[in-house]
Amino acid sequence: MRLELCGPQAVRASGCAGFRLCGLQAVRASGCAGFRLCGVRASGCAGLRLCGVAPRACPTGCAASGCALCGSPYSRRVRIDLHTHSTASDGTDTPAELVGQAKAAGLDVVAITDHDTAAGWAEAAAALPTGLTLVPGTEFSCAWFGANGARIGLHLLGYLYDPDDEELQSERRRLRESRRGRGQAIVNNLRADGIPVTWERVAELAGDGSVGRPHIGQALVEGGVVGSVDEAFADLLSSRSKYYVRKADMDVFDALRLINAAGGVTAFAHPLARRRGTVVGDEVIADMAAAGLDGLEVDHPDHSLADRAHLSGLAANLGLIPLGSSDYHGRNKAVRMGACTTSPDAYTDLLARNTASSPIVSTT
Ligand code: AMP
Ligand code: ZN
Ligand code: FE
Ligand code: FE
Repeated sequence: MRLELCGPQAVRASGCAGFRLCGLQAVRASGCAGFRLCGVRASGCAGLRLCGVAPRACPTGCAASGCALCGSPYSRRVRIDLHTHSTASDGTDTPAELVGQAKAAGLDVVAITDHDTAAGWAEAAAALPTGLTLVPGTEFSCAWFGANGARIGLHLLGYLYDPDDEELQSERRRLRESRRGRGQAIVNNLRADGIPVTWERVAELAGDGSVGRPHIGQALVEGGVVGSVDEAFADLLSSRSKYYVRKADMDVFDALRLINAAGGVTAFAHPLARRRGTVVGDEVIADMAAAGLDGLEVDHPDHSLADRAHLSGLAANLGLIPLGSSDYHGRNKAVRMGACTTSPDAYTDLLARNTASSPIVSTT
């Protein structure tokens, strides 16, 4: 269903079947030929598309406006970035700073998606600037297991799931604990070769957040071993390096099942980021789609134009929602917030899936 038509009445109470309402405020549209509202709660709407003669702003203060019927563009560009990291994992902005950065970057919607944790959600929500919508999410460490012991690591984004779901909560804890031991093991390997880096400093840099290789990269930069985190990843921290140690992962099909059961929507993060290691084939993505995957990250800084074209076609064939995101990590990565973005249509489609919670809109 792309667009729903209705008559002049659009209030929930009237039982209008042609509208999807975003909350308390529905639009009374005289002469309306087709509204489509997102599923955001009363305080805001992030996916409104307006019919009508002229593009209008959403009455609930959302960012998107424009005419979906006549094909006119949104009245202004809507910028949605659904993959960013804070100090709750291996980014360098605190969750509060992250939403401030998102606002400064001109984003309308930002998702916080730290590795294997939901720890940053509350702080980000509390600091949410006016006019910015926050999508709480997590990037789950997963792997695909094939025949004859084949194993390919991959990342699954889960949005809007219930953070109190016990099974998923204990999986996140398991993954974070493994990250700690594995970080220590990589440091030990480096030290055994005389490379000056200490676990104490890495642990200090990670603080309470999920430990990741970027923290080790930062410590290596501080120690003068490399000039940048990027340089550390090119060699010492690469998954192909002799110092590399694997972390625990969730079987991707278990992860899809658990995130769905916890009321989340899912997206396969950077499926063709080859420089990070081996990537899965299209047939695995098709299996994931059949197992309930909702979206596919098409636009990502690690994807070439050819990759994006391929993934865009694959998403269309498999009925997956095509997403675009920066995978911002603050100073730990050269990429800017909003470097890749998701279209308002794709975002609206994502929100149309049943989720345990709704995006958060600032009430101040
Ligand atoms: P880990 O999760 O510990 O295996 O580390 C992988 C993380 O490091 C991912 O979040 C990547 O986005 C990030 N990463 C990958 N390549 C780089 C790079 N060149 N510079 C900084 N961070 C990177
Ligand atoms: Zn990361
Ligand atoms: Fe990732
Ligand atoms: Fe990421």
